Formats: sequence, structure tokens, C-alpha cells
Amino acid sequence: MMPSIEATKIDLRDMTLPELESWVLSAGLECFRAGQIFRWLWRGDVTSLDQMTNLGKELREKLSELSYISHLHPKEIERSQDGTQKFLFALSDGNYIESVLIPEKGHYTLCLSSQAGCAMGCRFCLTGKGGFKRNLKTSEIVNQVLAVQRTLLPGEKLTNLVFMGMGEPLANYENVLKSLRILLAEEGCGFSSRRVTVSTCGLVPQMDRLGKDITVNLAVSLHAPDNETRSFLMPINRTYPLEVLIEACRHFPLPQRRMITFEYLLIDGVNDAPEQARALAKLLRDVRAKINLIPFNAYPGSEFKPPPPERVLAFQQILIKNHYTTMIRQSKGADISAACGQLHAHAVYGAERLRSTGQ
Ligand code: SAH
Ligand code: SF4
Repeated sequence: MMPSIEATKIDLRDMTLPELESWVLSAGLECFRAGQIFRWLWRGDVTSLDQMTNLGKELREKLSELSYISHLHPKEIERSQDGTQKFLFALSDGNYIESVLIPEKGHYTLCLSSQAGCAMGCRFCLTGKGGFKRNLKTSEIVNQVLAVQRTLLPGEKLTNLVFMGMGEPLANYENVLKSLRILLAEEGCGFSSRRVTVSTCGLVPQMDRLGKDITVNLAVSLHAPDNETRSFLMPINRTYPLEVLIEACRHFPLPQRRMITFEYLLIDGVNDAPEQARALAKLLRDVRAKINLIPFNAYPGSEFKPPPPERVLAFQQILIKNHYTTMIRQSKGADISAACGQLHAHAVYGAERLRSTGQ
């Protein structure tokens, strides 16, 4: 059997600019070639080395002996009635991931996956229930952005990225950090750091590292104001309980006027009582915090349900009275299972569905 291209050649889309520079030098080429290649890869979105027209033929031939350019093609795009689109990607090893494109006023936000599956086992989350498959490579993270961008019409702008798809981004720290470096690089994808958000269930050591390594927005999935409820919902709370997590949030380096977003899933009868809202207000007292309330998105077989709307509003009112900016986030795309916590399906069902359509 022929060895796969991945085993014999290096993927140019897996490297940050400094890494590409070292690689170019080690291949005996001039350093400035790295910048040219990097721009073609990310600004020019080329799919083959032949398209890098300012590199001579000989150079392109040498590069193609040593390297290749990976890409992702959506296997399937589902459209929700509210305009949200869910992209299904098959990875080269047969795993599946999903990305969700959300239309906003005048721009799009893309929700990216960082892992196939997730190992964190949160009780309410369908991705978690499916278990962990593997970390995504840097290229697989950034290629989601390029693949979706290619489907946009002229004038449509993808400006915001959130790492809120499948997986726990900080559990795939190295590759997520590299993907952020490419996404934010001026010569790379050129996203503004103000418009890129990493969401975590609360991996404290990696939160500390992230704050030192790069400037992006941080969202923390909190979901409960006390350790007992949080440990019931999120096993990670037994390793990094609330006092440790909140202390990490307190000293997370934030640029001026920026805040940490706290995601608070509202589940009927579990964490939606007025006294829990008051406890939350107290817990976040000296953190630069804004709060997003997300009514639980049910899925077939889920053990929880969302609270009635008046209970959601009452919870919000208490937080607002305590001077927190508090938004209620109705997840979009629920009709195509694209809403928060509903991404999973194709790891389980997708393979069969794709086989049955002969793809
Ligand atoms: N692993 C990261 C990012 C992916 S999950 C994290 O946990 O933060 C993105 C968000 O969706 C998280 O806030 C998560 O708690 C939330 N979520 C998971 N299941 C959900 C569900 N069924 N309904 C609503 N939100 C859910
Ligand atoms: Fe993983 Fe986030 Fe789901 Fe928890 S909520 S299982 S961390 S994807």
C-alpha cells in the first residue's frame, strides 16, 4: 500500500509564519519565501502550489516534493429557517466535525470545532455524550474558516469567530493556539482579536497560559453558582472548583474595557432559581464579567428541559439589578441541530447517512 501523503509530506497549512520560516530555511530556501507562501495560503486561499505564481517553477517543484496543502470540503450544508447554516466536514481519517455559520446584522459569525468529540463529559451536552475522538490539527481548525468563507457571496463578510463548536478548545491547547496565530496574523487570515472568542469549560492552567500567550476574548461556561450543582453538571469542576476558576478569571489579563463572558445555561429546576441568580451575582462580584443566559437546548433523549420564559426573564432581571450586562441568547439553528450543545450527530449517524447517499 502507498503511504498516505500525510505520512510523507508536510502540510503547509499546519504552520504558523515563524514555523514556516524555520521549515523554509531547513529546506535550504531563502527565508522571505515563507512570507510569500504564507500569504498565498491564507490571503490567496490557493489549493495547489502551482497557483503560487510569484514562485519560480523549480521552486514550486521542490516544494511539492516536500509539502502539500490540505483543505476541507463540506460534505453537507444544512440551512435553518433562521438563516443559520451547519457545515459537515469529513476528516481524512473518517471522523466528522461540524461548523455553524450564524448570520448577524451586517456580518457573519462562525462557530468552530476544536476537537472531534469531547472528553469533558458535561451532563447536558450532546457532544460530550458522544465521547472523545481526537484533537483537531491546526490545519483542520483553520480550514473550517476557509471552506465556509468560499461559500459566501460577494459583499458577505465573515468577521467573528467563536470556538464554541465541538470540543474543548483548551484541551487541544497547542493546535488551538497555532490556529489563533494564523487567524489573527495580518499576513494570515487577518481577523481582529476583538472578534475572536475562545470558550472553555474551565481548564484553569490553560486559561492562565492563554492569557499570557495571546490576546483574544474569553468565554467561560459557568452554568452554576455553587460547587455542588456545577460538579453535578460538569465533571471538570471537581478538578478546578469554582473558587479556583473564579480566581483565574480575576487575574486573566484583559485589554481595556473588555470583559470575560460567562455562559450560563439555564436548566429547568436545576440552576434557574432566583437564589441561584443572586448567588451568581455574588460570585462574580469582583470579576469584569458579562453574562449570557442560554436556555437549555433540548435534544432527543435529553434528561433536562429549558425553564419557562418567565423564569428566564426573572433570572435575568436579578442579574441586571446587580449591574451585570446580561443577555438572553436564544441559540439559532435548533431546527437543524446546529444550536449550542447539539453538535455531535454525524459522529454517530452521519457515517450511515453518507453511506446511504453513496458519498
Ligand atoms: N467546550 C467549550 C466550547 C464548546 S460548547 C465549552 O464548554 O465552553 C459551547 C457552549 O454550549 C458551552 O457554553 C456549553 O456549555 C453550551 N452547551 C452545551 N450543551 C448545551 C445545550 N444542550 N444547550 C445549550 N447550550 C449548551
Ligand atoms: Fe465538552 Fe463543552 Fe460539551 Fe462540556 S459543554 S462536553 S466541555 S463541548
